[in-house]
Amino acid sequence: MLTLKDPALLRQQAYIDGQWCDANEAATVDVINPATGEKLGTVPHMGAQETRRAIDAAAAAWPAWRKKTARERSLVLRRWSDLMLENADDLALLMTAEQGKPLAEAKGEVAYAASFFEWFGEEAKRVAGETLQSPWPDRRIVVTKEPIGVCAAITPWNFPAAMITRKVGPALAAGCPIVLKPAELTPYSALALAVLAERAGVPKGVFSVVIGDSKAIGGEMTSNPLVRKLSFTGSTAVGRLLMEQCAPTIKKISLELGGNASFIVFDDADIDAAVEGAIASKYRNAGQTCVCANRIYVQDGVYEEFAQKLVAAVGKLKVGNGVEAGVNQGPLIEEKAVVKVEQHIADALSKGARLLLGGKRHELGHSFFQPTVLADVTSNMALAREETFGPLAPLFRFSTEDEVIAMANDTEFGLASYFYSRDIGRVWRVAEQIETGMVGVNTGLISTEVAPFGGVKQSGLGREGSVHGMDDYLVMKYICMGGV
Ligand code: ADP
Repeated sequence: MLTLKDPALLRQQAYIDGQWCDANEAATVDVINPATGEKLGTVPHMGAQETRRAIDAAAAAWPAWRKKTARERSLVLRRWSDLMLENADDLALLMTAEQGKPLAEAKGEVAYAASFFEWFGEEAKRVAGETLQSPWPDRRIVVTKEPIGVCAAITPWNFPAAMITRKVGPALAAGCPIVLKPAELTPYSALALAVLAERAGVPKGVFSVVIGDSKAIGGEMTSNPLVRKLSFTGSTAVGRLLMEQCAPTIKKISLELGGNASFIVFDDADIDAAVEGAIASKYRNAGQTCVCANRIYVQDGVYEEFAQKLVAAVGKLKVGNGVEAGVNQGPLIEEKAVVKVEQHIADALSKGARLLLGGKRHELGHSFFQPTVLADVTSNMALAREETFGPLAPLFRFSTEDEVIAMANDTEFGLASYFYSRDIGRVWRVAEQIETGMVGVNTGLISTEVAPFGGVKQSGLGREGSVHGMDDYLVMKYICMGGV
């Protein structure tokens, strides 16, 4: 079982209006460790009623929270960030236990997650309006920025802490309260954050966590007129549904949805660097990130060399329980995820792909899967259209720059893309033509709190992180002052 330095960080209740509470019907669901199948504990299974309570509490807490000075809100976020870092070992252990990612990655995520509180705490102090040139001699024009109001957030299981802080940080910084529904598979990371919120001095009602029936909770969050904004990270299908549900009450929405990232290796690339980047982009979190390379395009001249070197590097990845030393790849989140990887492999092989490595469930059982590499992959295969969300690297072949740009853009998604080239002209040409919100050039890792994270096309709306991340939680007010 879990041995935390501070056992109080493992909470098995939801957090509403500053109170730890159970579901109205006392219903619970189990939380399972995907690496062992063992039950870690339970959490309440809540629905619309409890969500309404959290929203009412947020509405009640809003006036006092927005009245605080930016610096006061900033200091709370700063303390929250510090507490996360001070408790990083425990938070990482909880995360690995419920999510499966290797401990080193979990610790990395805790630091990344804390960085959003630090960053947005600083940004809180820089929210500024405008004074404009008036067209009237007796009137003046001022534009202020105000917190939008009660916010709601729905987050996924693949980054159980960072997807939360990336939304909660700017909301609180802007002066908004927020109700969170974390993924039911990874609630303990969210609840540990609530423990630290209390310690950091977040006032009651400003941050609440409800857990349970996603349809009922999502239904309340999207229909309740008190909620002015919804921020969602997850699948495109659910994002589309939530957008529709938000339409009747015209809520402002931010959506960070699925990706289908291309990763292009040109003939002139540094092949060893490209292999390293591909490993980082593809196999991080066992391939379960929305910015993971999903389609790897390799130019004719370096195809065999890249394939050979990638197979050698992937072959060295150690699969195992994330708490064990040296493990690079943990289990997938659940059985359903394994089935999808299997389907993508079977479909590709039936259409002529070549298996270079892996391809099967791992001997460790549960939801462990072998790191896999496929060659001779073509665009008529399912994995070219859908995110695999697993440790499968499919290698497509291409000849020309124009051809690969067309292939890379041939998707309704547009979150991240990557390419490797040392030709400066090509770097600009390709970066400009790729239809994604983020482009990694000669790197496989792009996420940071200082840069705007988000997609184009059906990968979403809005940007998280960076100076722009505050915008979604603010509204402008134009004040026309006459009688001057
Ligand atoms: P994935 O599990 O692939 O990350 P989902 O979109 O299914 O993507 O899940 C992301 C988040 O959305 C989770 O917190 C999940 O509980 C939530 N969710 C799933 N279906 C709904 C729904 N119908 N309404 C509201 N939230 C939902």
